[in-house]
Amino acid sequence: MKIGCPKEIKPQEFRVGLTPAAAAEAVARGHQVLVQTEAGAGAGFTDEDYRKAGATIAPDAAAVFGEAELVIKVKEPQAPERAMLRKGQVLFTYLHLAPDADQTRELLASGVTAIAYETVTDARGGLPLLAPMSEVAGRLAPQVGSWALQKANGGRGVLMGGVPGVRPANVVIIGGGVVGAAAARVAVGMGANVTVMDRSVPRLSYLDDIFMGKLTTQFASGPATAEAITRADMVIGAVLIPGAAAPKLVTREQLSTMPQGAVLVDVAIDQGGCFETSRATTHQDPIYEVDGIIHYCVANMPGAVARTSTQALGNVTLPHLLALADKGWRQAVTDDAHLRAGLSTHEGQLTSPPVGEALKLDA
Ligand code: NAD
Repeated sequence: MKIGCPKEIKPQEFRVGLTPAAAAEAVARGHQVLVQTEAGAGAGFTDEDYRKAGATIAPDAAAVFGEAELVIKVKEPQAPERAMLRKGQVLFTYLHLAPDADQTRELLASGVTAIAYETVTDARGGLPLLAPMSEVAGRLAPQVGSWALQKANGGRGVLMGGVPGVRPANVVIIGGGVVGAAAARVAVGMGANVTVMDRSVPRLSYLDDIFMGKLTTQFASGPATAEAITRADMVIGAVLIPGAAAPKLVTREQLSTMPQGAVLVDVAIDQGGCFETSRATTHQDPIYEVDGIIHYCVANMPGAVARTSTQALGNVTLPHLLALADKGWRQAVTDDAHLRAGLSTHEGQLTSPPVGEALKLDA
């Protein structure tokens, strides 16, 4: 099969859909791989890296979309990319169609067979093509939060690990899922005094087991959260209620109960944010201050570490990519119900019931 990988064109997107290592695996199985020139540049992969992997370099996106039977990407296709999709072609990428009626309409009109990363499932009921980005954002959260805690960045000038004789930073993580556990791992590693709060007792139990006394777990009742933030140098917001906007767990009024210069890292900002005073920021201008509290609210945190994120995403998409290329999409989704959960559009039909429900379309 002819697999095509264009350069991402969404602003501030530096990841790429196919790593040279993944390209080499596809080529080894007899597939042709076409990569747009400079597609990997933002993630540190050169055209030469792809050539060495056996891929052909295409001069522009039109050549990739024009020739490829299967297009692999990172972000949802932008309007100029959607105009190049066609019936008989397979698109494998993040789509996030539920809040995006324009994109859904245009994908349906194109006739493309679109498979969304974010709805592919696994045997444990997880979302395996979403999880690596949560891992990245979670591990990044204490890192960016500790930078914001520095005096020159407006923070209260507290070192995460403290020093002998001086207490470490108090870090409160609200939401102990994939992001929260990854954030806890890094914050504990930096020597901070970490509390993870969640409303799932089984999840708190699990975290208590795996961290073996290196952090405190606490049930996230309203009063407990209100009390915990009064002692926090850093609060990391990592909650998720699937299919819903993030609940607001810290109000503007409560900011005055926190130490001046404390830092809020709202990882849940892509779902609207879990602090009342959160608004989305960018990597160029990541922090702002409200009532003496520093807020970090970057909605696409994994983009800061595009190389790591590309490799992490490539690791989990590769088996599905190879199945789609080896067997053809129809056989691949017939054999694998988890991949079938990602099937979103096919020849003008919407095949994702949750997207249909969100957009009031038949699916
Ligand atoms: P997850 O489902 O693994 O974990 C969410 C956790 O939140 C669960 O353990 C759940 O019990 C807990 N929770 C729900 N409501 C709560 C409440 N009121 N109080 C305390 N805990 C509560 O989800 P995840 O993969 O860890 O993602 C967390 C958030 O991070 C999501 O909003 C996700 O979209 C976001 N995210 C953002 C970025 C970014 O770049 N900003 C990147 C990846 C993920």
